[in-house]
Amino acid sequence: QAKEAGRNGYRFFTTEMQSRYSRMLLLENGLRQAIERQQLSLVYQPQFTLAEYRLTGFEALLRWQHPELGMISPAEFIPIAEKNGFIMPLGEWVLATALRQQARWQQQGLPATLMGVNVSAVQFRHPRLGEQIRMLLAATEVPAQQLELELTESVMMDNPQRTVAVMEQLNLLGIHLALDDFGTGYSSLSYLKRLRLARLKIDQSFVRDLLIDEEDRTIIGTIISLARNLGLQTIAEGVESREQLEMLRTMGCDQAQGYHLGRPLSAEQATELLLGRRSFLS
Ligand code: C2E
Ligand code: MG
Ligand code: MG
Ligand code: MG
Repeated sequence: QAKEAGRNGYRFFTTEMQSRYSRMLLLENGLRQAIERQQLSLVYQPQFTLAEYRLTGFEALLRWQHPELGMISPAEFIPIAEKNGFIMPLGEWVLATALRQQARWQQQGLPATLMGVNVSAVQFRHPRLGEQIRMLLAATEVPAQQLELELTESVMMDNPQRTVAVMEQLNLLGIHLALDDFGTGYSSLSYLKRLRLARLKIDQSFVRDLLIDEEDRTIIGTIISLARNLGLQTIAEGVESREQLEMLRTMGCDQAQGYHLGRPLSAEQATELLLGRRSFLS
């Protein structure tokens, strides 16, 4: 009996391991062709000021429509791309696509907005990143001030000194830098001051229970006053209700994004929003 159950348990375990492994392989192999097979796309989540609900920009978020597995979350395939080195061409595709969209809006005479692009720590460590961005800005003729790179605190982990140097180099190009998921990782306050950031993005895990969890409220308040003292802007992520929005506004947060203000939009939908033909409050 026990042996039977054990064997079943073992079999179950290997089956699950195997299917997880084969999914990983499927994703890893598929990723290399995803660009040329046009399975990748970007969606654009709008960002607003809290003082007057003015649209200030979009965050570009990567989507992968896999032919057999359906829509795959970037949270699943970005780590794979980071491991197998594919993150560099992938990241370049994201930057190029986001900047081409900016250029199109510019040609249509639409109001200038900021484009936030997520950059992984592996990309950030790559010596070619600065040159890649400089070339793409030149090719698309998008003003550097309209591009914001979103970095996570993990970029600082391995080599804070070099991080500061790379950020200074990127800063010279004129682009903005934001620290994503702020509050969830490790940040040395002394380095924070030297990073030449424009914004801190308050992680959505603090926003989620903002109304019921006093600790989360305290953390958000602390981030906002820290940002003020360092002369940085704050933007809250994952705002899902009007009550959260009001609370953040009262607390002095500068900007917000989240499902309550707008889901990530297709390029066409984002264009409609910029044209003022679409209301943003869902
Ligand atoms: P992130 O940069 O922190 O992006 C915010 C995530 O929260 C997005 O998930 C977005 O769709 C989601 N979100 C937005 N509003 C709400 C809300 O009101 N409630 C909730 N629950 N979620 C909300 P997504 O698109 O699945 O992206 C997940 C992560 O994948 C991103 O986190 C980012 O770290 C990474 N990622 C996405 N696109 C790229 C990319 O082009 N390059 C790199 N390197 N990473 C990317
Ligand atoms: Mg982000
Ligand atoms: Mg985030
Ligand atoms: Mg996140």
